[in-house]
Amino acid sequence: MNMHALHTTSATPDIATFVDIRRQIHAAPELGGDTPHTAAMVAEMLEGWGYEVHRNVGGHGLVGVLRNGDSSRTLGIRADMDALPMSEKNQFAHASRVPGRMHACGHDGHTAILLAAAARIAQTRQFNGTLNLIFQPDEEGLAGAKAMIDDGMFERFPCDAVFALHNMPGIPVGTCVVQAGPTMASSERVKINITGKGGHGAMPELTVDPVPVLASLINAIQTIKSRVLAVEEYAVISIGSVQAGTVYNIIPDEASMLISVRTDTTETQQKINNRLTEIVKGHEQTFGVKIDLSMVQLAPALVNHERETEILRQSLSPLFGEGQLLSTMPKKVMGTEDFAYMLEERPGCYFMLGNGTGEFHGCSVHNPHYDFNDELIELGAGCWIKLTENFLA
Ligand SMILES: [Zn+2]
Ligand SMILES: [Zn+2]
Repeated sequence: MNMHALHTTSATPDIATFVDIRRQIHAAPELGGDTPHTAAMVAEMLEGWGYEVHRNVGGHGLVGVLRNGDSSRTLGIRADMDALPMSEKNQFAHASRVPGRMHACGHDGHTAILLAAAARIAQTRQFNGTLNLIFQPDEEGLAGAKAMIDDGMFERFPCDAVFALHNMPGIPVGTCVVQAGPTMASSERVKINITGKGGHGAMPELTVDPVPVLASLINAIQTIKSRVLAVEEYAVISIGSVQAGTVYNIIPDEASMLISVRTDTTETQQKINNRLTEIVKGHEQTFGVKIDLSMVQLAPALVNHERETEILRQSLSPLFGEGQLLSTMPKKVMGTEDFAYMLEERPGCYFMLGNGTGEFHGCSVHNPHYDFNDELIELGAGCWIKLTENFLA
């Protein structure tokens, strides 16, 4: 369809238009922070509906601002725009036209939902205050939200609260999860590098062998989850890589490992990091090696704020029937989401919309057969409209 036609007509585009927009984004996915075409398309549409658009906020991020009335209240709603570096295996007409790139997480749908809401809100203007629509690149790289924040987004576009949504395959359409407190996990990459003294495999007495140290560390690290954390403290600690040596008869100088640490609170994360540090120091003394420990946080835990979660729940309740507005996730999720950085800066809530069940719409995100369910566009837009009208009443 012709994008330009969208803002030459005064009538609000219908849902079919946004289904079409979603499919266009799906067919032309952009990766990471490199989302110039998606961002340009979003910006042009928002401008056409009367939004003041600020481009290049933290790279290709953009913020569309709409003011109405005289209230000083401000609201931020965020959608992510980036795809994944994988090849799509679906055969339908709107399948990715770019090998090695695919909207396998539904960010095409999140963008279309927020655009559909944007068009209607601009038409009805049933709110009092300032609405900031945040379109963010590079969620999958866990860098886009931070880049926008570091570029002064919340100073330039103050938000009393921020909200975002994600589709959730395996949950029926028409069901949503609005959960207070810890909702998505933190992600940390830990690297341990052991330096000993290498030598001939026949003369271990002349060496300081890092290999047994590596083995001992692997065992000791297993005790963090099983012996240090309480049963109600959620964590996943996975050793994803161990490296040492080259051939059978050389004792290596060095050995290393890479670990993924995920938790759902800052406190648990701190506890794990403290224990890792103690274990490493103990091994240095016991084995006479030098051990470097580096811990890089990729995203903090996502913790929804109580008050804003309740506001969202009240706003959405007219849209969902009995038993369709869940207050806890059906299953604990240890995936990460970089909206967590925004929730560290401003109060808010991140909620889930069921993408459907069955082989197709129940297919997991990040799978080559996944597709966002277009039925969610109308429902999702309705959620953002209700929130805007309620929060900026
Ligand atoms: Zn994803
Ligand atoms: Zn996602």
